[in-house]
This record gives sequence, C-alpha cells and structure tokens, in this order.
Amino acid sequence: MINEKHTEVFKTLKTPFYFYDMELLKETLELYTSYIKRYNYNAHYAIKANAQPEILHLIQKAGLGADCVSGMEVALAVKNGFAPSKIVYAGVGKSDAEIKTALKAGIYSFNCESAPEIKVINDIASGMGKIAKISLRVNPDIDAHTHKYISTGRQEDKFGISPWEFDAVTEMIKGLKNVKLIGLHFHVGSQITDMSVFQLLCRMVEQLQRWFIEHGIKIENLNLGGGLGIDYQNPVKNPIANFKDYFEIIHKNLIVRPGQKIHFEPGRAIVGQCGEIISRVLYVKIGQKQKFVILDAGMNDLIRPALYQAHHDMENLTSTGKLTKYAVVGPVCESSDVFTKSILLNQTQRGDLIAIHSAGAYGQVMGMRYNQKPLAKCYYSTDKRFCK
Ligand SMILES: *Cc1c(COP(=O)(O)O)cnc(C)c1O
Repeated sequence: MINEKHTEVFKTLKTPFYFYDMELLKETLELYTSYIKRYNYNAHYAIKANAQPEILHLIQKAGLGADCVSGMEVALAVKNGFAPSKIVYAGVGKSDAEIKTALKAGIYSFNCESAPEIKVINDIASGMGKIAKISLRVNPDIDAHTHKYISTGRQEDKFGISPWEFDAVTEMIKGLKNVKLIGLHFHVGSQITDMSVFQLLCRMVEQLQRWFIEHGIKIENLNLGGGLGIDYQNPVKNPIANFKDYFEIIHKNLIVRPGQKIHFEPGRAIVGQCGEIISRVLYVKIGQKQKFVILDAGMNDLIRPALYQAHHDMENLTSTGKLTKYAVVGPVCESSDVFTKSILLNQTQRGDLIAIHSAGAYGQVMGMRYNQKPLAKCYYSTDKRFCK
C-alpha cells in the first residue's frame, strides 16, 4: 500500500504512471501457493492480466506456470523462464504461426476452442513431426453473474466447445494422428465474486466429464480456469482475494478421479490489487450539476471503466481537506473517458496526486496510444528510491 514516503517520491515523478506494490504481490503469491500445495493443485498465471517482466519474474519464482492466449504470450512466458511443461494456451483464434511457436516450445496443452482449430493443430503438428497435447475448452453454458463483456461461459459467448459437439469432436480426434486429448478446460468469466458460481461450475465439470468417461475417454487433466474476483470497492481493507473460500468451495464440490491433475489459471486475483495509477489533477471544473476532477491519466492508461463500466476506488494522496463529491475524468476526447461519475475525495485542487486503486490487472497491458498519448511508465516498490 502507498505510504507517505512513496507520496514524497511520487511528487518528483512525471505523471501518470503505474506503481506496483511488490511486497503485496509476494504476500498474495505466498497465500495463493499455500492453498495450491495444500490441495495438490496446479496453477498457471494468466499472463494477459499483467505481463511486466518484473511481475512475471516473481510469479514464475513462486512456482506458477503460465496461461497464454496468444503465441506472443507463449514466447514471452518462455523468455521469462516459465518451463514449457507448465505453459497452457487458449484462445478462439490461434493463427498458424502462433500454433507453430507453441509446438516448437513444447507446451503442456493447447486448450482448443473449436473442431476446425483441432484439425489445423493436427495438420501443423504432423508437418513438424510432433504430437500436440490438447484439451477441450468446454462451454458449460453457465452465467458467471459478472459484466457481459467478461462473461465467457454462456452459450452466446464465442468461447469453447459446446456439449452437443462432443460426439463429433471426439470422433474426429480419434482419426487424427498428431493430437492427443489430455483433458478438459473451463473458464467461465472474470471478476466472479459470487462463490456459488464456482460450486455450479464444479457440478457442470462433473456432469460433462462423465460423458467422456462413459465413452471410454480418460480425462487426465481438469482445468477450471481463472475468474476469481477482487474487492474493487474496498481495496485497502481487502488487498488479497478470498482464496480461502474459493479453494474450499472447489475442494468440497469437485469430484477428483484417481491420478487426475487439477489446474487453475488465476489472473486478476494475483495481480489486481498490487497496481495503482498515480495521476496529477490538471483542473477542477465546476459544472452545472457536478464538480469534475480532470486527471492527466485517461482511458488510454486504464480502459476498464470505459470498456466494462468498472469501478476503481480512488484516493487523493496530497489533501486532507473536507470530503467532497466529484466526477473524475480523463483528458481523452471521448465521453466514455470517465473513471467515475461520483466519488468522495478530500477537497481537490490542481496539482494534487490521485491514486487509482486496483489497477494491477488489465490495466497497463491494455494501455494504448490514442490521442498520441505516450504509454505510461511504471515503477516498483522495490525500486531503491522507494526503499530509502
Ligand atoms: C483471462 C483468462 C484467465 C484469467 O482470468 P482472471 O479472471 O483474470 O482470473 C484464465 N483463463 C483463460 C483462458 C483466460 O482467457
């Protein structure tokens, strides 16, 4: 978390920038891996949530594998020391070049999202004289009770293979010499805080894997994906995700067959709370109905509010003035460049530093250069200047 010493250094830095609390990341990883060990599970960090090398380094050192959604992410994972035997690769649109990258690396599993994709992987693997290990990403038709843009396991979502296709897909796989089916994969959405969703997921996993067992197909691996949410409302009070309830509910509800390996793919829950955007107030504009705080950070630095109507808690680091209601907006020429329509901040003026909390996941990685803004730099709490 940000302390006064940090704020003193922030005052000397060009804004906006990302700040990462690496101690919090370490603590989060320690707790997470303690559950993984306790239940004998396997974890693959979803690289797309945050791919800063320093962050990947800590996660890799903590023993997690990598969950990738592009060939570029597979290459990045390998470059950052993740063992190929701990890399899994999902995505509805794997290109030929990306498939080749992953085959060359020798990853653990292609998590396949359609029949035509499996056929293409087989053909490319055949050309390279390799056998590709594949899992079927199953769309279990579950509503994850999250924002529609981060729900991935309903029938209308583009992800995964539906149960009605099992017959045709498994028949097709039997005829392919260069793919080997090793498991089933599920990932039903993100920022899931309703734990009953995971209970339902366990039930669906059991029901669906039974189909395979009844058809004489052994399922060595079950991958339950990621999706555990974090507390965006109270990040200071709840800096670490509720791993305890999550793993308890899964342990209690998932039926594991002898020899079966269970996998997870956390993204947001690992990195979400360790990142902040530090931004300067450019103007406070008094409107007809509200006061606008106009920041130098915008949707180009953090697109989640514009894309998913996401809420991020904020704090004025440099004011102790009376709590006042503001709308907080960015400088980009889009009406959706609004961080919040209403938040209480200490009385704010030009030059104040505002911290936007919980920006560690799907923040910096989604940065863009719209309006020709430069990509925000980042700083780590382990940087000497913060440790003095
Ligand atoms: C994005 C993604 C994840 C991580 O999701 P979180 O909600 O950040 O935990 C895991 N698996 C797959 C396949 C993904 O696409």
